[in-house]
Amino acid sequence: MTHVFHRHLRHTPPAAVSASGMTIRDASGRDYLDASGGAAVSSLGHGHPDVIAAMHAQIDRIAYAHTSFFTTEVAEELADELIRTAPEGMSHVYLVSGGSEAVESALKMARQYFVEIGQPQRTHFIARRQSYHGNTLGALAVGGNAWRREPFAPILVPATHVAPCYPYREQREGESAQQYGWRLAAELEAAILAQGADRVIAFVAETVGGATAGVLTPVPGYFKAVREVCDRHGVLLILDEVMCGMGRCGTLYACEQEGVVPDLVTVAKGLGGGYQPIGAVLAQRRIVEAMSKGSGFFQHGHTYLGHPVACAAALAVQQVIRRDGLLAKVREDGEVFGAMLRSALGDHPHVGDIRGRGFFWGVELVADRAGKTPFAPGLQLHAWIKKEAMARGLLCYPFGGTVDGRQGDHVLLAPPFIATRDDLQEIASRLAGAVDFVTRAVDATRAH
Ligand code: PLP
Repeated sequence: MTHVFHRHLRHTPPAAVSASGMTIRDASGRDYLDASGGAAVSSLGHGHPDVIAAMHAQIDRIAYAHTSFFTTEVAEELADELIRTAPEGMSHVYLVSGGSEAVESALKMARQYFVEIGQPQRTHFIARRQSYHGNTLGALAVGGNAWRREPFAPILVPATHVAPCYPYREQREGESAQQYGWRLAAELEAAILAQGADRVIAFVAETVGGATAGVLTPVPGYFKAVREVCDRHGVLLILDEVMCGMGRCGTLYACEQEGVVPDLVTVAKGLGGGYQPIGAVLAQRRIVEAMSKGSGFFQHGHTYLGHPVACAAALAVQQVIRRDGLLAKVREDGEVFGAMLRSALGDHPHVGDIRGRGFFWGVELVADRAGKTPFAPGLQLHAWIKKEAMARGLLCYPFGGTVDGRQGDHVLLAPPFIATRDDLQEIASRLAGAVDFVTRAVDATRAH
């Protein structure tokens, strides 16, 4: 009998008892190769001595101080480090405890910015279908995952959702990638105009989509066109890099590869690499200045803002990534990993698409390749694959997204940046084994 309120109330997961590098061990002594860093969190793997030492040193110095009384050296140092490497024009870092808090903070920062500059009529957010921005009510309101929103829809603030950039399913025949990106930007502009351009606060998007449709990489030019549309109407661009940022895609920020600079960018997961819960919003100077010259106060806050031990962990994680040249490794080995996945799974009759960037890859599963038909939602194929992968000692992150209003099945892979090429090959092979086993079982029941 457990008293922990687990997410699945009829099933208690195995107890994790120790972890090292790429591996987590459970109470029965079984080892699992961590191919998803939890949920794209563990960028340095488990038990990194430098991060642990930095956290110990910080606890010995000061573990906690409330931000209404004090700043701390370590929070200042982390903010300096982040700003030094941030997209152009970012001047301040708001340090929170995770991804949803970062998104909530960014939404409120954007709203307050317009109140401060005398545009209080801006009350509306536009985001994308098949997106995920967190589970708190504001983040859920902008998120576009129908399944997650459904029970709470009547209590969410209204937001408009436009199409995600999902070429596998939505790029039209005869349409170039560039034309497709422009069409999406035009759809965004139409949504802004329909709402009334002076009523829209921001467009919110994951630079590379994560936990809804199995890694959605934008087509070239899409975000540039989106940035232009936002600028034309004075709408802010909030990029959510909670999952795809902090090196996951091979550059510190995924938007570097798109050649755009957002007004606000959220990061979390890989920021602290799982050693501590931490997230952040990076803000453009003009947004912070509007507040500092106006009310002088951001009307928001949490008890654990800038938690010193979390800041120490994040600072150490980011320093190790820089010192060990891990961004270049992720870029280089990411290509190799993509090739391994294509070789292991590319010809599989139930693999519709394999896409990704750096150490961030998604595999989309389909009942039939030609029609791109998703499996029946009742099969819960993704949950089955997760179970089979675990039985093979592999942790991957399968989930069901919504495809054309139906549940689709995807597997997300986000290995720690320290993964060797042997680890990556092992991940591809074990995943192929699990996918093959499950889909053969489904085909066998259909045949009867
Ligand atoms: N934003 C994105 C893009 C995410 O992928 C997630 C989590 O998966 C969140 C926000 C929410 O982060 P958290 O679970 O830390 O609250």
